[in-house]
Amino acid sequence: MKDLLRGRAAFEGVGAVSKVGAVSKVAKRFVKAIVLFGSPGSGKGTQAKLLTECLGIPHVSTGEMLRDGVRQGRGVTPKTAAKMHAGVLVKDAVVEAMVEERLSRPDAACGFVLDGYPRTLVQVEHLIGWLDQRGIREVVIHLAVDYNIIIARLTGRRECPRCGTPYNVVLRPPKVDELCDLDGEKLVRRDDDREDVIRARLDAYEQQTRPVLEYLLSHGRRVIEVDGSDDSPEAVFQKIGRAMEN
Ligand code: ADP
Repeated sequence: MKDLLRGRAAFEGVGAVSKVGAVSKVAKRFVKAIVLFGSPGSGKGTQAKLLTECLGIPHVSTGEMLRDGVRQGRGVTPKTAAKMHAGVLVKDAVVEAMVEERLSRPDAACGFVLDGYPRTLVQVEHLIGWLDQRGIREVVIHLAVDYNIIIARLTGRRECPRCGTPYNVVLRPPKVDELCDLDGEKLVRRDDDREDVIRARLDAYEQQTRPVLEYLLSHGRRVIEVDGSDDSPEAVFQKIGRAMEN
């Protein structure tokens, strides 16, 4: 808890959020957007959840929004679903519209954590324009993780379909093989965590997403690099807190 509060202090230290009323001119200069950047399996989703719990701002994950759309059978065309299934990126316009709609809701007015967006040069240009127009400052946290760790994380990843608790059959196994510790439900593998699809996702990252980082750096945007290789999400979270304090 102390660490979470330190994380919050770090966030507020870089000038986070006006929680009441209209955002003042001064507050507009402050960080409101946290962008988690990194390869599939780098722990973006896990860190985004910790940050949003700590800061009380929404977690905006394009991957989760798209998967929800597929599950509920709305807002996602069969063509888009097929792309996700194959591990390739969906059309920029599809995610841009989704993100803009989500960020325009009232709960995002005080700040938000972006996870999985932007992932292409078109998306990053779009996002930077959108943020600059509104005077919203962002901080990008780049989770750097060794390739072999990424592969171990993705191939071993499982989750409980009922409560969503994440596991890894190699790195963080449940007490009883393939069953959730909390509710005994049989764990499932994400549809796109099959080996051939993992390869496609990592290729997409190298070719389309890594250039986003270069774009951000060459445009003088604030990027903090954090080593995300630790097994413990809390240890990585503490590093993020410390990096933001600095
Ligand atoms: P991961 O980062 O583990 O690969 P995500 O859950 O972020 O997975 O995304 C799952 C899939 O959703 C991606 O493989 C891609 O098909 C699609 N997707 C998510 N975010 C984007 C994005 N910003 N641009 C294009 N496609 C996306």
